[in-house]
Amino acid sequence: MSNENNSSASVTFNDTRKTYDDFIAVDGFNARIEAGEFITIVGPSGSGKSTLLRMVAGLEEISDGDIQINGQSVKGVEPQQRGIAMVFQNYALYPHMSVRKNMAYGLKLTTDLSGDDIDQRVRETAAMLEIEDLLDDKPANLSGGQQQRVATGRAIVRDPEIFLMDEPLSNLDAKLKVHMRTELQRLQEDLGTTTIYVTHDQEEALTMSDRIVVLNEGELQQFGTPEEVYDRPANRFVADFIGSPAMNFFDVELNGSTLVGEGLEYSIPSSVAETIGDTQTASGLELGIRPEDIRIEATGENAIPATVDVVENAGSDNYLYLDIDGQECRVRAASGVTPTVGETLHVTFDPSDVHVFDTRTGENLLVDEMEQAMVSDEPPA
Ligand code: ADP
Repeated sequence: MSNENNSSASVTFNDTRKTYDDFIAVDGFNARIEAGEFITIVGPSGSGKSTLLRMVAGLEEISDGDIQINGQSVKGVEPQQRGIAMVFQNYALYPHMSVRKNMAYGLKLTTDLSGDDIDQRVRETAAMLEIEDLLDDKPANLSGGQQQRVATGRAIVRDPEIFLMDEPLSNLDAKLKVHMRTELQRLQEDLGTTTIYVTHDQEEALTMSDRIVVLNEGELQQFGTPEEVYDRPANRFVADFIGSPAMNFFDVELNGSTLVGEGLEYSIPSSVAETIGDTQTASGLELGIRPEDIRIEATGENAIPATVDVVENAGSDNYLYLDIDGQECRVRAASGVTPTVGETLHVTFDPSDVHVFDTRTGENLLVDEMEQAMVSDEPPA
């Protein structure tokens, strides 16, 4: 497809707010999406993801604050004039029209392009998506994956500055979903079109995007690269939501430079303890550790006894469910690691993998500390 007139746009949210009567669906959202970025908005059901997208699209009014596309407020700009194209979960293809007509329809309505030009764009886009052979078919005769491609194609032919995608892959089976993820990423890279992609699937967010917006209850939790939200979650919500199996959390107190909880004691470097000590509140702390950061068969200091409850074979990995004094501890181990149920073993982990959260606010107290650890991980110049 011709790239010469394919520009992409930045999108800026300024204190964007959406209310339905008394209910706040999106609360004071601030973010700047650069031109050409692939952004996912991820969060649980009802967190406001679609509402944000629909405000960009012009399908919902903005209650307060603003959204700008390339620095221009979208207020008062008709959806068709915003340079966007949407792909939805239900592809909403016109059943009585051929694939070719489905793809051409929007262009006929919204542009002055000649019939020949439209036909050429449809053919080029179909070639890009490898659906040229289907152009004369009706949607009902297509597989889910093919329908998904047609819906994507219908967005691409319009040569938008921004793609808005709302759970576009959620109707596909698991294998096809993984395939289409890669395909969408490749397309987006080739086209360079700014893309805002809504999903409830944290894995989709981690694998596809340049940066991730994590939302909960209408509020921004974190906006960062996949590495940032995974390695340096801003708070307990992000830590829990991103990553599968989910991070383990244990209630602890800081005693000198030891984190002490039910059935566990873990010494941390005194500099880290000082950071926590400065901020520690009466509400207590939670130690967070990812299942993949836990090693078993530990000895010596910081070895924590745990009893094996369940061993689950997950193909390339084994998931171990351990019991630490009545608390579940999930461990992601290599497939060869198959301890006996009922056996007691010892687990440990590196201090650099430990997260500590304020129980009341959920804030990650060691984000800066981890940043420093990462910097000091780099070899000296
Ligand atoms: P998500 O896409 O994250 O699942 P939505 O953006 O669809 O969430 O919805 C956010 C919240 O706003 C939900 O609690 C939903 O019930 C509410 N909501 C969405 N649309 C309306 C509406 N038209 N009227 C009232 N409440 C709505």
